[in-house]
Amino acid sequence: MRGMKIPFNKPYMTGKELWYIAQAHANGHLAGDGSFTKKCSDWLERRTGTYKALLTHSCTAALEMAAILADIQPGDEVIMPSYTFVSTANAFLLRGGVPVFVDIRPDTLNIDEARIEAAVTEKTKAIVPVHYAGVGCEMDSIMAIARKHGLLVIEDAAQGIMASHQGRPLGSIGHLGALSFHETKNIISGEGGALLINDRALAERAEIIREKGTNRSKFFRGQVDKYTWVDLGSSYLPSELIAAFLWAQMEEADAITRRRLDIWANYHQWFAGLEKAGRIRRPLMPRECGHNAHMYYLLLPSLEHRTAFIERLRSDQINTVFHYTPLHSSPYGQRLGRVAGNMANTDSVSERLVRLPMWLGLEEEQPHIIRKMLSLIDALD
Ligand SMILES: *Cc1c(COP(=O)(O)O)cnc(C)c1O
Repeated sequence: MRGMKIPFNKPYMTGKELWYIAQAHANGHLAGDGSFTKKCSDWLERRTGTYKALLTHSCTAALEMAAILADIQPGDEVIMPSYTFVSTANAFLLRGGVPVFVDIRPDTLNIDEARIEAAVTEKTKAIVPVHYAGVGCEMDSIMAIARKHGLLVIEDAAQGIMASHQGRPLGSIGHLGALSFHETKNIISGEGGALLINDRALAERAEIIREKGTNRSKFFRGQVDKYTWVDLGSSYLPSELIAAFLWAQMEEADAITRRRLDIWANYHQWFAGLEKAGRIRRPLMPRECGHNAHMYYLLLPSLEHRTAFIERLRSDQINTVFHYTPLHSSPYGQRLGRVAGNMANTDSVSERLVRLPMWLGLEEEQPHIIRKMLSLIDALD
């Protein structure tokens, strides 16, 4: 409705969340790994085809578990894009690892697989591809480089639930994959995440790390007669209340994705003319990527254009946001990371990208938003 503030994000509730939380409450099992956690991890295993899915309290936590599983030691290098969220790097820094930043491709804005091998040294332990906007990285090339150099591949699939690359669900292709259910993502539980374990050899240790370094999960399955401290670990499991909320979302995951894809397609269609006229660039979807409409963005010609675009929309009560100060140019990344090659695409995209409002319920507002944006871009120069 005109005059109403249009937020950038608005968490979608299916309507069953509180009902399931009430059930968890009635069950009297509030700690992690109860029946709702099992429903959610079974669903993830079925839908992604991963060997084992473990719920965590965030994608950040899943990445931290992955860093422990990768056995990162001080000085070990981990290759990743600079154009990503801080957790991709922090998870490895916490173990003394060194993030090595590689530039992104100008089309998908994913790590440029052709530049990864030049960044590999004797210290390299892992590659962390980030599937930006739920569009899959070039996983075949990345897995081939990893095999050749004996590296682990940990997919940061925080934005990738319900999306695929060559028919394979994101997060299920590398050795490990990390998903996010943060309220800004497609399927949510406020804060939440999951670690997908595709390499069976890592599954037993993953359970232990998630349970504070104990073999408690084995004990509950009756595989040992008492549980004890056996490894490094922390508390990475979410409570049943969170899993109950998440289950309501998972039940609706197909419908949620369909509605997001419609909103995405609407933007995409309306901005086609401006792209043809060379005034903006729209997201690019390679044929082999089944995306999930996590995000709709535009690439404007310059930082000045973007600043004007965001400010003028804000005065019209429409909130758009930009994304990612590149990690290699942020204070902490400069101190502790290493840059491999030039970062021209990362620098350019981070100055020009703007994310448009994307949430279920936006459908009614979308014609108004798009009209405003079209006339604004026409007037920018
Ligand atoms: C959201 C996000 C994360 C962090 O997810 P949390 O669940 O909030 O910890 C990590 N990486 C990427 C690429 C993200 O978009």
